[in-house]
Amino acid sequence: MKSFDVVIIGAGLAGLQCARLLAKENVKVLLVDRKEDLSKGVHTTGIFVRKTFEDFEFPANTLGKPISDVTLYSPKLKSFSMNSENPEFRVGKMGVLYQTYLQECIDLGVEFLNGARFISSQTEKDVSNVDPLNFHIDDILKTLGYNTTVNLEKKGKRILVKTKILIGADGATSRVAKDLGLDENEEWIVGYEEIYEGVPLKDEPMLHCFLDAKLSPGYLAWITNDGEESHIGVGGYPSSFNPREALEIFKQEVVPKVIDLKNASLSETRGGRIPVGGVLKNIANEKGLLIGDAAGAVSPLTAGGLDPCMRLSKFASEVVLERLKTNDSQVLLKYSGEMFRAKFTTRLWLRYFLKTLTSQTLLEIGFKFLRGRIGRKIAEKIFFRRSSFPDVNLLQEKTQINLPKLTTNSRG
Ligand SMILES: Cc1cc2nc3c(=O)[nH]c(=O)nc-3n(C[C@H](O)[C@H](O)[C@H](O)COP(=O)(O)OP(=O)(O)OC[C@H]3O[C@@H](n4cnc5c(N)ncnc54)[C@H](O)[C@@H]3O)c2cc1C
Repeated sequence: MKSFDVVIIGAGLAGLQCARLLAKENVKVLLVDRKEDLSKGVHTTGIFVRKTFEDFEFPANTLGKPISDVTLYSPKLKSFSMNSENPEFRVGKMGVLYQTYLQECIDLGVEFLNGARFISSQTEKDVSNVDPLNFHIDDILKTLGYNTTVNLEKKGKRILVKTKILIGADGATSRVAKDLGLDENEEWIVGYEEIYEGVPLKDEPMLHCFLDAKLSPGYLAWITNDGEESHIGVGGYPSSFNPREALEIFKQEVVPKVIDLKNASLSETRGGRIPVGGVLKNIANEKGLLIGDAAGAVSPLTAGGLDPCMRLSKFASEVVLERLKTNDSQVLLKYSGEMFRAKFTTRLWLRYFLKTLTSQTLLEIGFKFLRGRIGRKIAEKIFFRRSSFPDVNLLQEKTQINLPKLTTNSRG
């Protein structure tokens, strides 16, 4: 049975970021994903906010053109536009980004197991009573701290590996969270979109957002066009709409008024669940921890989860490094969702408010307010402020948690 310091389940943005940061510190990592090919079955639109591409270095050719203009539409398609002096958004070329990060991981020594599913794990607590005269190699591994056995399945075959720490980066409906007895996401919206190539760009790259109680109950419908590809999508509470039907109606009734799909070709469809209940409270115990969507690390208001993937995975890597250095499993308990939850209070209230706007009339009234002087300032703040996931370093100072700094550069 192979042994690893850390086993990470899930090679989305959260898992890849964590694996690369740990591998840079010479940690022995196994990265597992049920996908055969990470560039297939991407589920995110991939819009990165300014704070993320300013704070983190991205590999060449993985981000689309900068977008500084946003137009917001009411259900009756009244609209107003906002312009920022900064590049506010860039649509990631997610397939290429995942592959590039994966290659970096492999070059750094990460072992990658594709097409393999996480089934369960088992941790032996008491490793003190190993008989020195009659021991098995497993007993030695246990005394060295490799006391969790991870049960994986690849093409019908069972694979067992030993690890010190199990990390769940396996998305919104995390199996690792359940297995480790940690908190699980309970509230989500769903998003569904199509990507087109060959859509002409009339002016500047643009993000169009539509408030509509039928097409996107509790969230937005969107069109992005950065001249390279166009994403057309709808999102909302699954109990209140059928995303596929809503997208069809959106394409027939609204999209032609904004972009011209006549000569465009459909290249991909994407979709999935987005947790919007805020960061979960219990995201770690002595056996392991959760990152990304598995930890509920998504803005409840904007449903943006990519910035949290980068930041929370970095914090998790620091905690894991400290745990490995000290060999003290209690260190993982420093990684708590509690420290972030307070920062999400306003966003959770706004999410609750959005959820209650269930009629087109209420949305028209809300839109009228947003178009006014004060409302516009609020809208600009939501779309353009340089913020997303709470600043983990600042929180660390406040809570007086001292963790080792990673040797990777600050934009790693
Ligand atoms: C339609 C849609 C659009 C979105 N658009 C944006 C956006 O524009 N901007 C933004 O900031 N956020 C967006 N989000 C949210 C954002 O995409 C997520 O927060 C982010 O991608 C989460 O990354 P992750 O690595 O935590 O999880 P994921 O990307 O879900 O990765 C989880 C990985 O785990 C693997 N896995 C799952 N279970 C197992 C198992 N049992 N065994 C092995 N492997 C397993 C999966 O194959 C997957 O590769 C969007 C989400 C959706 C659904």
